Amino acid sequence: MKCPRCGIENETSAHTCILCGLPLEETDELAPGAARRRSRASVGGALIILSGIMGILNGIYFIAPGSLGLDPTNITWIGDPVTFGYLTIAAAMVGVVGGLTSLQRTAYPLCVAGGFLAALSLGFTIGFFIGLVGMALVGSSRKEFVTGTRFG
Ligand SMILES: [Zn+2]
Repeated sequence: MKCPRCGIENETSAHTCILCGLPLEETDELAPGAARRRSRASVGGALIILSGIMGILNGIYFIAPGSLGLDPTNITWIGDPVTFGYLTIAAAMVGVVGGLTSLQRTAYPLCVAGGFLAALSLGFTIGFFIGLVGMALVGSSRKEFVTGTRFG
């Protein structure tokens, strides 16, 4: 079932949302507001957070080679793996902040930029695509943002 607060898909047997912890047994009571809250910005924000977390893990892997049982030194295009690792972690952290901001519907530009940076952090390649999908969802949900119009 979909979480009425953040929109993420949960196991039907789940008692609480895996992302935001909302008790799912109460969803019937929350139903009137559920449709309003379940939106592209929430799903996009959740995907951006996921992409950012993957980017952070990816960065740790480059900074501490072998920590994940793989060897990044044979990936030559990134240059220095440690520098690359810190850059991707920085980008991914901005991405996580952007994703959280998206769940709150504030600062639309930060959410879109966060999606972009989360994608750039490349979380094991798949994080790149997750981040792009998240950015596209948030980018197309600008109407949901209260403060978005102020930034043009
Ligand atoms: Zn949730």
